[in-house]
Amino acid sequence: MEKRLIKKETLAGIVGELAGKMRICAPMKAEDQVLFRILEAGEKPLVDFANAKNAPKNFLFPRTETLLKFTRTGKGMVRAGEPEEGVKTLLFGVRPCDARSFTLLDMLFDQEKYKDPYYIDKREKTTIVALACVHPPYTTCFCTSVGGTPVDSVGVDLLLTDLGEEYLAEFITPKGEELLPAFGGSPAGEEAEKAKEGIAAKAAEEIASHIPAHEIKPILDTHFEDPFWNTLHQKCLACGTCTYLCPTCHCFDISDEVKRDDGIRIRNWDSCMFPMFTKETSGHNPRSSQKERWRQRVMHKFRYYPDNFNAIACVGCGRCVMACPVNLDIRKIVTDIAKI
Ligand code: SF4
Ligand code: SF4
Repeated sequence: MEKRLIKKETLAGIVGELAGKMRICAPMKAEDQVLFRILEAGEKPLVDFANAKNAPKNFLFPRTETLLKFTRTGKGMVRAGEPEEGVKTLLFGVRPCDARSFTLLDMLFDQEKYKDPYYIDKREKTTIVALACVHPPYTTCFCTSVGGTPVDSVGVDLLLTDLGEEYLAEFITPKGEELLPAFGGSPAGEEAEKAKEGIAAKAAEEIASHIPAHEIKPILDTHFEDPFWNTLHQKCLACGTCTYLCPTCHCFDISDEVKRDDGIRIRNWDSCMFPMFTKETSGHNPRSSQKERWRQRVMHKFRYYPDNFNAIACVGCGRCVMACPVNLDIRKIVTDIAKI
């Protein structure tokens, strides 16, 4: 693996320069928030920030996406155009937890039996450049409890670690190596690697939240009807914020929008927190109460995903904890389940 040292003051400029040549999505200031968005030519991304409010999943799995276009004729519907193809994209400034979330989405959208061509097309055309969390940004971060670390390279093509004066740039995959000419830098030696090891150990120690995420699956397996579920949901407003901000949540709904004879088939993010989410055409709703919906959210992440893919569907980013308007905290819920 090629490793280089890149002067800190040059990084934003390198990415800004690339923005004129390819599509770059990066964290940018938006009033009092930091959000991922597409850079204009020459625009420099933020390099000094905690984490973006929105997860970068939108660029591989858009909030609204056209799947196909059609026209109604006297003989039925005919295809009237293909959806736009994915564009070669560099996703810059992704934190290690969010980079790992893409590997969890891969398990679902790119499995042997079921392949989602829309997601796969974008995934193949996207290069992930991550910024390691030298100091984990929030007290709500808990990546180390769900299999990650603040300097994790899982799902990353190029990992940048702030060593003080320079970034250690690790070109991990062939996609990452394609960026070598643009990022340049000088060869990194053993000293830089040792410095990174020290930073990694310190960063992991700085993680303040620890939860027994790997211990609860056997409890969930046998406590579907436990009284615990009777009260958990009570203050939930069913707003869906937790699922929309979550980098691993991926439920969607498909609908047709038709004007006269022309239509598009679109898919939109959906949320297991919404009452209509599982409503069937007959009118029956198998998850008719918020209790059942909250149980589903926990089961999906900590029981069904481990069953299906041998992985917990949470990367410990803490977004849902920070954004929930009524302070429902997934860390407390997991901890309480472990006590059942
Ligand atoms: S963000 Fe909080 S209130 Fe909104 S749906 Fe999620 S748990 Fe419920
Ligand atoms: S469940 Fe919450 S902490 Fe876990 S990945 Fe989703 S938003 Fe982040």
